[in-house]
Amino acid sequence: MSYDGRVRAVLGIGSNLGDRLALIREAVAQMRAVASVLAVSPVYESDALGPPQGRYLNAAMLVDTPMAPLALLAAMHEVERHLGRERRERWGARTLDLDVLWIEGTSVDDAALTVPHPALRERAFALRPLVDVAPLAVDPRDGQRLADVPRDDASLVVFGYA
Ligand code: ATP
Ligand code: CA
Ligand code: CA
Repeated sequence: MSYDGRVRAVLGIGSNLGDRLALIREAVAQMRAVASVLAVSPVYESDALGPPQGRYLNAAMLVDTPMAPLALLAAMHEVERHLGRERRERWGARTLDLDVLWIEGTSVDDAALTVPHPALRERAFALRPLVDVAPLAVDPRDGQRLADVPRDDASLVVFGYA
């Protein structure tokens, strides 16, 4: 992967365990230490995918950072760890999940990182907040505007604001 400048990216934030809204606010605060946070979406609530578990809160933030994508992912894992996430079963309940949803003008196909996030187009809880903070974002692979991808907004309710 070549890298020669600042990265503008949208990060997805999810929580379904503990004080979910406080965890999302704290995640945004901690990410400010490593990236410029340009915008934060409303916080949406939706039913969980995967094994039976509590409802999710999800939001997204638009960031600008000099870090390369894999360094950004490492910083995000650090914040997840600080905020109490234990990695157990995939898609299980968690205090905090931070995903790289989209990077401007770049796709990434690395063993540890796929961007745009592989499930982005199928997940209203990721796509809707992404479009809130980056309304003109396009998929770098085909140029499609992500705001034009059909999504099930009816599965979401606005829970609050970070
Ligand atoms: P999903 O990927 O379906 O949203 P998840 O977020 O629950 O599932 P995790 O257990 O948090 O999955 O992450 C598993 C691995 O996915 C991470 O260790 C990371 O290396 C990898 N990964 C690949 N692409 C991404 C991405 N775009 N954002 C975050 N992690 C990613
Ligand atoms: Ca995820
Ligand atoms: Ca994740």
